[in-house]
Amino acid sequence: MTMDHIIIAGNGVAGLTAGDTLRRLGFEGELTVIGEEHHATYSRPALSKAALAPGDELAVNFLPDATHGGTELLGRCTTGLDPEKRTVTLDDGTELSYDGLVIATGTHARRFTGSAREFTLRSLDDAVQLRKRLESRPRVTVIGGGPLGMEVASGAIGLGCAVTLVHPGTPMLPHIGPLLAGVLTEAALEHGLTLVDDFVAEVRETAEGMAVTLASGAELSSDVVISAAGDIPNDGWLRDSGLLVDGRLVTDGRCRVRDNIVAAGDVAWLDGADGPRRSPVWTSAIEQAKTAAAALLTGDEAESLSFQSYFWTDQWGMNLKISGPIPHGDEQPVVVKGDLAERSAVLHWPGQGSAAALNIRMPIPRLHKLAQSEPASV
Ligand SMILES: Cc1cc2nc3c(=O)[nH]c(=O)nc-3n(C[C@H](O)[C@H](O)[C@H](O)COP(=O)(O)OP(=O)(O)OC[C@H]3O[C@@H](n4cnc5c(N)ncnc54)[C@H](O)[C@@H]3O)c2cc1C
Repeated sequence: MTMDHIIIAGNGVAGLTAGDTLRRLGFEGELTVIGEEHHATYSRPALSKAALAPGDELAVNFLPDATHGGTELLGRCTTGLDPEKRTVTLDDGTELSYDGLVIATGTHARRFTGSAREFTLRSLDDAVQLRKRLESRPRVTVIGGGPLGMEVASGAIGLGCAVTLVHPGTPMLPHIGPLLAGVLTEAALEHGLTLVDDFVAEVRETAEGMAVTLASGAELSSDVVISAAGDIPNDGWLRDSGLLVDGRLVTDGRCRVRDNIVAAGDVAWLDGADGPRRSPVWTSAIEQAKTAAAALLTGDEAESLSFQSYFWTDQWGMNLKISGPIPHGDEQPVVVKGDLAERSAVLHWPGQGSAAALNIRMPIPRLHKLAQSEPASV
């Protein structure tokens, strides 16, 4: 198939990487990137870290400029897709034809109410609003104890707020396993976080602020709520395209939805042995975008997606980097360096393909190498 014009929907890290990769692989045709936000591509992970750090100003980490040289339509969004006609519709009704399409429209945050006192953190604009509000030191309830909820709670306490976080069980347990989740939760409590072990039944605005009703029947009141309770793929514009399977945008192992349509990043469900799964983390979006771009140009000749998973978080003055899947059982790691009791250690789970560096600087390739090594060695 001749590819004269490729459209990329979404200019987050997956869209940017796809565009740059297409050029690197020799695509010389027309490239159009459509991005709903008015901003150039920036580091989304930094929004819950550097952007909430104490200091005079919000720090924005823009990514290096795109090298793809395509036409960027920023502040515009795709509203429809006709895969048979090979056209994408934009919010002003314009139809654009494509030969190849990259879908990289990411996700939006789940909300409980329409109240202006409920904040979420997904975009740079969200971060600007949230930081401004937190600087007036409101009483905050954070809903959700995943990495985002814990980072936001850490940032809010750093800015002088009193923070209660609601989460059933130990925060971040499914993400980083019991050992490391225990270490970070202990640090959170030392920093003054109030942790409530419960489910949220209802959230509503009151005359004084916000009320969060828990499954136990108890009620928490605060000035603002920050919801960090999951994200929803931005696939509404694909509703009538026939591409969604059970409401999901499912790709094969080369990130293909169809021969001339690929998808990458948080919006995409990658089919695998355990069924379709999303992998909504930064490095996964980058690797998916590289695979997707190659598959769009070379089809079956492209390599299937394969990479060592990587995740990091900054909270409570600590940095944690993880390579591979952290065991969720009782498996104890080998302490390769440092001391976990001092919250500074390199850990290795031999045979599990996993390693972690807590508060110890370690280049990512070295951490990957340790995760894959047997027996433990740095
Ligand atoms: C606050 C925060 C902190 C995070 N921290 C970490 C972390 O520490 N480590 C980690 O690994 N991951 C982290 N993540 C996840 C990581 O940022 C995402 O996995 C990554 O940004 C996904 O990239 P993406 O390009 O798929 O989607 P996005 O970055 O969401 O980009 C999609 C873009 O498409 C735009 N768009 C949406 N709909 C349309 C449309 N119809 N038309 C055109 N454009 C559209 C969106 O506005 C957006 O700009 C964090 C996420 C958030 C929100």
